Amino acid sequence: MRVAVIGAGIAGVTTAYELARQGDEVTVYERRGSVAGESSFAAGGIVSAGHIAPRVLPALGGFGGWRALAHMPWLWRWWRAGRPAVLAANRRALQQLAHASRERMLELTRALDLEYEQEPGLLVLLRDERDLKAARAPLALLAEWGVAHELVDAARCRALEPGLAERAPVHAAIHLAQDGVGNCRLFAQQLKTQAQRLGADFRLDAAVRALVPGARPGVVDAAGRQREFDAVVVCAGAQAAPLLAPLGLRLPLLPVQGYSVTAPLRHLDGLPRPGPRAALIDERMGVTIARLGQRVRASGCAELGGKAAQVELEPLRRLYRLLEEWFDGAAVTREAQHWKGAQPALPDGPPVLGASGAPGIWLNLGHGASGWTLACGSARVLAELVAGRAATIDLERYSAARLR
Ligand SMILES: Cc1cc2nc3c(=O)[nH]c(=O)nc-3n(C[C@H](O)[C@H](O)[C@H](O)COP(=O)(O)OP(=O)(O)OC[C@H]3O[C@@H](n4cnc5c(N)ncnc54)[C@H](O)[C@@H]3O)c2cc1C
Repeated sequence: MRVAVIGAGIAGVTTAYELARQGDEVTVYERRGSVAGESSFAAGGIVSAGHIAPRVLPALGGFGGWRALAHMPWLWRWWRAGRPAVLAANRRALQQLAHASRERMLELTRALDLEYEQEPGLLVLLRDERDLKAARAPLALLAEWGVAHELVDAARCRALEPGLAERAPVHAAIHLAQDGVGNCRLFAQQLKTQAQRLGADFRLDAAVRALVPGARPGVVDAAGRQREFDAVVVCAGAQAAPLLAPLGLRLPLLPVQGYSVTAPLRHLDGLPRPGPRAALIDERMGVTIARLGQRVRASGCAELGGKAAQVELEPLRRLYRLLEEWFDGAAVTREAQHWKGAQPALPDGPPVLGASGAPGIWLNLGHGASGWTLACGSARVLAELVAGRAATIDLERYSAARLR
C-alpha cells in the first residue's frame, strides 16, 4: 500500500516505521526541517506504564490562570471525564496501551540497537503522610492490574537515588522498576533512520495544506500539488485541527503548554553532586525530574491556552526551585536550556487511534501528557488497522466517535 503520514513527531516517526516494516510504501510529510521538532522535542522523557494519568492535570496550583476560561467547553468535558467510572475505564485502557507500548519500545531497542539515553527505574515521590495516604488508591490499582511495583521508605529511596538532596522532603515513594526515562527526540531520530532503511521517504520542510478523503485519499502540499495514496495517517499532534476541520472532524484537541529545563550535571566538573540516576515524579507538584545522559531535565506545568512563543518566567522558576529542592547543586544552571511545548490534549485522556470517519483518512493523535510513553504501541495499532488486521487492543476507548 502507498501510505502518507502527516507529521514527524514521535507519533509520526513510529507510525512510519511500523508501516514500512510491514511492507508499505511510506511518504512522511513534516512541515519542520527535522523530526521531533514540536511537542516531542524536549519533553520530560518519562516512559511509564505504572504511572499514567488519564487526563492532563493542572500542575502547580492551576491550569494557567484566567486564560483557561477561554476553554470552558473543553474544561467542561475534562471535568465530566473525571467521573469515577469513566476515569477508571480510561485509566485501565491507557495502562494497557502503555504496557504494550513499552514492550514494543524494548523490542525495537534490542532489535535495532537503539541508544537514546534510556535508564530504567521510576520513583513516584511522596512528600509526607498526606501524599502516602493519597497513594493508597493508585497502589491498589497497580496491584489489581498486576503491575510490578514496590512501596519504599525514605531510606530505600535514597539508596535507589543516592543524589537526592539531604533536605529533600522524601517520605516514601512508589518504585516502578520497569518504567524509566529515555530521550524521545533521540529515539525519533534513530527510528527515522531505520524507517528510511526500510524505504520510507521523509519529506522535511513539507507542510500539508489539505487532505482529500476518498477511496484514493490525497494530500495537497503547500504549492497546491495533490498526490494520491491508498491511506493517509494524520499524526500532526496539537496542530491537526486545521487539517481535520474541513473534513467535518472537529476534535476537542487543545494544546496544553508545558515547560522543561535541561542542564548539564555538575559532577562532570568533578564535584560530588551525582543528580538523578533515572526518573522521578514529584506527585504533588506535577513535575518530573530525570537524567538524560550527562544532563538532568525537570519538566511540568500545565497551561491551557498559552502560546509556545510566550515563555513565562514563573513556571521556569518553579522548575528550578524543585530541581534544587530534590537535587541541590546538581545542575549547572547557567548552561540550562529552556523549552516550552504543547501536549496535544483531548479532554478525557486516551488518544484517537484508527479510522477518522472520512474515507481513507486515519488518525494517531491526541496523546496528551503521555505521547512518548504511548508512541510505539499506538503506531503498532495504526499499522495493523491500515493493513486490515484486527488490532491487538480493544479500540473502543480510542475512537474519534466518542468525542462527537
Ligand atoms: C512539557 C512536556 C513534558 C512532557 N513529558 C512527557 C513525558 O515525560 N512522557 C511522555 O510520555 N510524554 C510527555 N509529554 C507528551 C509528549 O511530548 C507528546 O504527547 C508527544 O510528543 C506528542 O507527539 P506527536 O507526534 O503527537 O506530536 P508532535 O511531536 O507535535 O508532532 C507533530 C508533528 O506534525 C507536524 N505537523 C503539524 N501539522 C502539519 C502539517 N500540516 N503538515 C506537515 N507537518 C505537520 C509538526 O511540525 C510536528 O512535527 C510531554 C509534553 C510536554 C509539552
